[in-house]
Amino acid sequence: MAKQESVAENPLQWIKGIGPKRAKALSDAGITTLTDLIFYLPRSYIDRAAMSSIRQLAESLDDDNLFAKTKSQNDIALYKDVCIVGKLTVKREHTFSGGRRMLSFILSDDSGATAKIIFWNMIQYFGKVYSEGDFVSISGKPDVDGSGYISFSHPEMELISPEDADLYRSGSILPKYPLTQQLRTAGVNTRVLRNIISHALDSELKNLKETLPVSFLNRLEFPDIVETVKNLHFPSSREMLDKAVFRIKFEELFFFEILIALQKKRIKNKDSGIKLNQKSPLARKFIESLPFTLTGDQKKVMKHLVDDFISGKPMNRLLQGDVGSGKTVVAVAAMLAAVENGLQTAIMAPTEILAEQHFHTIRKFVEPLGVRVVQLVGGQKAKQRRMILESISSGEAQIIVGTHALFQSEIEYRKLGFIVIDEQHRFGVQQRADLIELGRKSFAGDEELSTQAIVPHILVMSATPIPRTLTMTLYGDLDVSIIRELPKNRKQIITKVSFESKYQEIYDFVKKHVSNGRQVFIVYPLVDESEKMELKAATVHFETLKSEVFPAYKCGLLHGQMLWYEKEDTMKAFLKREYDILVATTVIEVGIDIPNATIMIIENADRFGLSQLHQLRGRVGRGSEQSYCILVTKDKFQYLLKTKNKDSERKAAIIRLKTMEATTDGFEISEVDLKLRGPGDVLGTRQSGLPEFKYADLTTDGEIIELARKEAFAIIDSDPHLRLPEHTSIREHFIKLHASGKNYFDIA
Ligand code: ADP
Ligand code: MG
Repeated sequence: MAKQESVAENPLQWIKGIGPKRAKALSDAGITTLTDLIFYLPRSYIDRAAMSSIRQLAESLDDDNLFAKTKSQNDIALYKDVCIVGKLTVKREHTFSGGRRMLSFILSDDSGATAKIIFWNMIQYFGKVYSEGDFVSISGKPDVDGSGYISFSHPEMELISPEDADLYRSGSILPKYPLTQQLRTAGVNTRVLRNIISHALDSELKNLKETLPVSFLNRLEFPDIVETVKNLHFPSSREMLDKAVFRIKFEELFFFEILIALQKKRIKNKDSGIKLNQKSPLARKFIESLPFTLTGDQKKVMKHLVDDFISGKPMNRLLQGDVGSGKTVVAVAAMLAAVENGLQTAIMAPTEILAEQHFHTIRKFVEPLGVRVVQLVGGQKAKQRRMILESISSGEAQIIVGTHALFQSEIEYRKLGFIVIDEQHRFGVQQRADLIELGRKSFAGDEELSTQAIVPHILVMSATPIPRTLTMTLYGDLDVSIIRELPKNRKQIITKVSFESKYQEIYDFVKKHVSNGRQVFIVYPLVDESEKMELKAATVHFETLKSEVFPAYKCGLLHGQMLWYEKEDTMKAFLKREYDILVATTVIEVGIDIPNATIMIIENADRFGLSQLHQLRGRVGRGSEQSYCILVTKDKFQYLLKTKNKDSERKAAIIRLKTMEATTDGFEISEVDLKLRGPGDVLGTRQSGLPEFKYADLTTDGEIIELARKEAFAIIDSDPHLRLPEHTSIREHFIKLHASGKNYFDIA
């Protein structure tokens, strides 16, 4: 009776329809148990009601207003794959002169219109698998030719069996499973998989354990787990399918948010923050001494910070705002409040040059108030460094500005109660934990505070606006404050797309402004070229500009092959107006504040990503003068911008350029970017640190994330150890899910 003991653990080959070969293919696809099998969920569905028709598609692509409203979702939605179900007719093979071969079908659907399907590769394979008369579902990005005829090249294509075709016609919703080549080779196609899963459901559904409390299901109108899984495989209606999909995504996000809520709670609960006085005359004096008044958003953020300071819990906050939105000023005010309460504070910048800039700005601000600021960076002389270290350990230094050098273990802080991180890249949970440790240690031996576990207040500042869904996911354990509003004296940067045939005008514009004492950046991308080539291209370009276009002006060159100090020297020289024009590759992305630079010219602008364009543009508009950003592209875009376009790469480029013209709001831009590229690419995959969700999609499921977060946080708030009987199912499922990542939770 061994079989009965643990059905779920048995090899799948016992199941009807699965032999050793299929069991092997399934196990290679990660399916080894019945439970795996029933959670091998469809990737998408073929639903007649939700399907595009070729006719509709042709009409929507013909819409001349496509770019009148670039920011709207509609345009971008065209990027999404469209799905069409229809019959293959007219199969053709064609060999072009030169030997290139092509296989094509005509696809006709119920709308009576037709589209072409084209294959350039693996022609023999596709020619064998598909024949005229086959009923197929395809999904892919449509192309349109000059006369408006739609075609798909290499769409994702799936054969629909005759029985399924009947089901489809009668209104059933058909699942589409992810199928590996190996599964297909082993004869596991959608229909076979449906059969196997149907058997598995018969025996397994009753063993499924509910993961969410019943009260939850009732309140949120979720189907229970059995209904959910059943409907995901065999939807009884569109409505039930939608509910099942919602629930499965919710559930995935909910358990993720439970984890985040626990992390957050752990910091808040176990540790005491240093409680500051509500009023800080010193901070007030500083704010009053500023030659401007704070913006509404800055004031709002000040309030968040004060609330954290007086809460008795450690601050653990993210402050997001574009470059130049005035984050530093707010941080300095908060640092002064901490200083006034007898604490030491530190601010960490990503590069030496930025640390230096912070050092000078902050010193200028706070030394008149009698506050002692020191700078700690690499390359300081031994004697100087020793003096600085002494002033830190004695507590004489009240504000310490530095780079990662602030981490070094030989530094002894003295009551380091508030740490600001001005980040360039993502500053991970671990790094924050290290900083907390640093702060903790600095309270050792302190009479008043040493009895408690003291944790410093931490403020992370980010100048990279990212979409809200990503913020919630990446920085879920932090409280978030946002500055969207730019200081009032700042003039909106005027952004225009221009063309290579207009160089003369552009250069005249530059000359006019340089004659009036302004400075100019000229940037161009170096994509897909070797480093040597890059350097050569940059140099050649620079020489032409310098000797032929702007002989009367001083031009500097900045490129990625320079050593870091050469780059810094060049930037400093530009700051000191030793150059009028700085020709640069994208390295100025990480740069410094040059208020006198008012023109940013970006060449081959169509080749830059949105966030990169936005960051580059942020290098101007830092002073009170009107600034300009000119996005130069090939002349063909002049035509493409005006007409409907056919090619998705170009379409993306056009949306990017139009978006840049339309807005300077970094958050808005990041949302468009997310839709164009998806979450991994928006963050840069290398450093993204995003969790991988199986069902949820960060691009589209913002609403579900919000809900899951709200519910998870409410539960952990009321029952931090998940001890209440009604939370048993959550607790058990959570432990099962995270059984391997033990260190994350301590709910026991
Ligand atoms: P961030 O740190 O967000 O890049 P900063 O705090 O460095 O921005 O501010 C950029 C510039 O704007 C600085 O010169 C700062 O003095 C100035 N500034 C900050 N807040 C205001 C404001 N409310 N009104 C006018 N200028 C401001
Ligand atoms: Mg800054």
